Amino acid sequence: MNCLLCDQSFRAEVSWQALIVQTFPAVICARCRQSFERAQSTEEVTALFTYNNAMKAYIQRYKFMKDVALAHVFRNELYAALHKRREKIVPVPLHHERLLERTFSQVHELLRAAKIPYIDMLRKEINDRQSQKTLQERKSGQNRFSLCEQFDVKDEELLIVDDIYTTGTTVNDIKQLLLSNGAKKVSIFVLVKVKSDE
Ligand SMILES: [Zn+2]
Repeated sequence: MNCLLCDQSFRAEVSWQALIVQTFPAVICARCRQSFERAQSTEEVTALFTYNNAMKAYIQRYKFMKDVALAHVFRNELYAALHKRREKIVPVPLHHERLLERTFSQVHELLRAAKIPYIDMLRKEINDRQSQKTLQERKSGQNRFSLCEQFDVKDEELLIVDDIYTTGTTVNDIKQLLLSNGAKKVSIFVLVKVKSDE
């Protein structure tokens, strides 16, 4: 088969990944795989990869060129990292207008490709692309997310999942929202973490 990233043909049966059990067949070649750099997780954030050049190119294609097939690239890593977590998985949602622009939600597609069940309990109230007003609303401390009425998170253990962590504003807003609604413990998991010195 051909690598989804570089289009070179490769043999999927070659075991190039000693560290994790492959639950799903590989969709990228060993060379592309090696171009990604594993991240160090911290107490606050579990992260799979760093934001290096290879990851930058991947994100560009996946997110901005809307290549939904690329959701499968990290499904083995995501499955290995998430399938035994006992918390409820909570993906970070897009604002509905942004979802229309993007055509799909990157985070949701990553989880679906990795066959990780999740619960859509959040709504994004403010589209960050919206002008000045948004800035003022953000300054006023209004949370950009809300918990959908039908969900009760009291005493629940939850894991927020996002694609990229940069400043942490988004996931920390959500963490506060869930804790203020009575969640017992809220942890953060991301595919990519930008190193804080970058
Ligand atoms: Zn490749």
